[in-house]
Amino acid sequence: MDLFKPIGNLENNKKPQQSEQEVEKVKCLIIGSGPAGYTAAIYAARANLQPVLYEGLQPGGQLTTTTEVENFPGYPDGITGPELMEDLKKQAIRFGTDVRWGLATASDLSKQPCKITIDNKKVIEAETIIIATGATAKYLGLDDEQKYAGSGVSACATCDGFFYKNKVVAVVGGGDSACEEALYLSNLCSKVYIIVRKSYLRASKIMQQRVSEKENIEVLFEHNTKGLFGENVVEGATLIKRMGQPEEEEVKIKIDGFFLAIGHTPNSDIFKEYLETDETGYILTKKGTAKTSLPGVFACGDVQDKDYRQAVTAAGSGCMAALDAERYLSQKEA
Ligand code: NDP
Repeated sequence: MDLFKPIGNLENNKKPQQSEQEVEKVKCLIIGSGPAGYTAAIYAARANLQPVLYEGLQPGGQLTTTTEVENFPGYPDGITGPELMEDLKKQAIRFGTDVRWGLATASDLSKQPCKITIDNKKVIEAETIIIATGATAKYLGLDDEQKYAGSGVSACATCDGFFYKNKVVAVVGGGDSACEEALYLSNLCSKVYIIVRKSYLRASKIMQQRVSEKENIEVLFEHNTKGLFGENVVEGATLIKRMGQPEEEEVKIKIDGFFLAIGHTPNSDIFKEYLETDETGYILTKKGTAKTSLPGVFACGDVQDKDYRQAVTAAGSGCMAALDAERYLSQKEA
């Protein structure tokens, strides 16, 4: 099962019909439950903003699909992603955050108070909104990815790796995610290929070293994926070696699973109409703050960060969003 799904799209971003729908007024609405959302909730609750947090499609965010988190300060022996997120959630609830199951499906930020529709029915009128909707895994855009979805294609090794025990798999990508997924899979699978389009890995040195130390991982540099083949499930991939060069060559590898780890797209679709974003959809925030182009609307975590994308930077920006929301409300009330 692929847990990385967009949190909403433009098609269902219809303006909420207030007269037909139940409307609830809140002081601070937080959308998203990754490290950014929960940290914003901890700070907002402690500042008495009585935050309501909607968890979204993937409660706990992307870290719930990670194995060991070794770089979150305060855990010298590491902690698993799901445990870290459970702890953050407990901390947010301890200070009074109202954590709810539900997905933000539409927004109307055209005037104050802003409105967010949850699960296409309930409307929340919020004095401040903190957008912490994160980002979603990217696919290559091959027809075969659709064709074999759930039958050998996945964007989450920790969700689906178990199904490939003692089998041969490939991971596409050359960053830390690809290395992390490959390392995880190498403990389950007989062989793991990493398909890298460049002649080098972009991943951090420590990850590269771990990959090189694994005997059952083979890195295929300068390879692009052309397609997948197999009767009903993935049985192999067709790759192009040194694409566009005189020595270009087609290569086939036999694999049972094909994992994507080529980066992410920000989950900003339902807000893009109202907020300034960059060309790829990352919400723009005012330098050194969590302020978006609209007063009272703040953004934190991966939906506004395409450079760092770490749990700790997401948490830090969640703190900033809550402090900015608190200051915005105090100035409004003054
Ligand atoms: P990155 O953007 O760092 O890497 C994406 C990789 O996918 C690159 O190698 C890129 O190739 C490749 N790629 C992109 N599009 C295609 C395509 N169409 N075909 C083939 N290859 C493609 O994303 P990650 O998700 O790996 O990492 C994001 C951030 O999260 C980073 O800051 C990373 O450090 C961090 N992270 C940290 C972890 C940890 O510390 N444990 C674990 C996971 C992530 P190219 O290099 O050619 O552009």
